This record gives sequence, structure tokens and C-alpha cells, in this order.
Amino acid sequence: MMIVGLTGGIGSGKTTIAQIFASQFAIPIYIADTASKQLIETNKDIRQQIVTLFGEKAFEQEKYNSKYIASIVFTDAQKLQQLNAIIHPAVQRDFQHWVAKQSAQYVIKESAILFESGSYRDCDLIISVVAPVNVRIERVMLRDKIDKEMIEKRIKNQWTDAELVKYSNFVIENREICKNLDKVREIHFKILKILEKTH
Ligand code: ATP
Repeated sequence: MMIVGLTGGIGSGKTTIAQIFASQFAIPIYIADTASKQLIETNKDIRQQIVTLFGEKAFEQEKYNSKYIASIVFTDAQKLQQLNAIIHPAVQRDFQHWVAKQSAQYVIKESAILFESGSYRDCDLIISVVAPVNVRIERVMLRDKIDKEMIEKRIKNQWTDAELVKYSNFVIENREICKNLDKVREIHFKILKILEKTH
């Protein structure tokens, strides 16, 4: 099964683009962020490790207190590393199980931190979604109702668009929403061509 990584900074439009691959071309999408939240809330072992690291406040009425955790890991790189060491291997295993159940020509793994987490190593091809930082900040402020500083802190922890472009096979500049379908179609057929050649 060919695995295509889909990455981009916060608010670049990864999910927006992934939805086009899914709706227009029936490509299965694995969203690493959603999967990791599900794993944290359903896997007792992961939950216990997180409580050991961050204390009981890590969960509020059974729900993962992501705001509390985020406020700690933004300023504590060691804690972020320890949290990643718990979550990333579990997401990796979950993704492998998920892939084994798919039967499409290729699948997409969406992750904001595809390179930073090392999961790019599983990918045969990589698509990056890019957009200017100020546009991304505006989108996320509108979507999540959080302040600019919080978003800027997240951006500082992620790769820049220039770095992403350097290591990607395809780049989608997500500005005008109406142009996205054509860009996705072009990349989809290029991927199918690559698949034909490799079989
Ligand atoms: P995150 O990393 O935070 O999960 P993301 O990269 O998946 O973000 P999306 O959730 O797809 O980004 O998009 C962020 C917000 O911007 C959403 O509310 C989406 O509807 C909006 N958006 C995406 N693309 C565009 C666009 N081209 N024009 C206007 N709004 C857009």
C-alpha cells in the first residue's frame, strides 16, 4: 500500500485538502491528531503514563485536558519530548493497523508534525500544504477562537513552509479555495501514474 504523507503548519489547510482527496477520489485519510486524541482517551496504559508525567489535572472528568497539557509543553521542551515518546509510538502502531484494513490504491496520513515526529519515514510521497503565516493565524483565530500569541507559539514549534517545501514531492499553495480541487486532481493523477510505474 502506498502511503502519502500530508503535512503543513497549523491553519495551512491540511484537513480541507484531505477532505477533497476523500470526497472526490475516495482516498482513505488517517488524521494523526484525531487518532492521538482518541488513543489518549481510550487507552488506559497511555492515560496512566500521561497522569504520571503531568498529574491528575491531565484529565478533567475523564476528558483529556489538552489546554492544560499545551500550556506546560509550550514552555517545557523536555516534557514535550516525554509526551511525544508516549504518544508517537502508539499512533504509529494504530496507523499500521489502520493501513492493513484499507484497500484503496493509496492512503493519506495527515499530520502537522509529519517531519518533526519522524513519521515521514513511513511515507512513500509527501504533500505539503502552505499558506502565508498571517493568513494561517487569521484562519485559526476564526476557527478556534484562540488568541494570536497561542497560535504563534505553535508555529514556532513547527517547521517553516520553506523547510516543508524542500522535503516534499508536491506542494499545494492553499489560498483561494476554488482552486484546490484542480490542484488535488492534478496530484491525485500524478500519484496514480507513479503507482502504475512501480507495479
Ligand atoms: P490544523 O493544523 O490546525 O489542524 P489544518 O492545516 O488542518 O489546521 P484546516 O482546518 O483545513 O487547516 O483549515 C483551517 C481553517 O481555515 C478552517 O476553518 C478552514 O475552513 C479554513 N480554510 C482552509 N483553507 C482555506 C482557504 N483557502 N480560504 C479560506 N479559509 C480556508
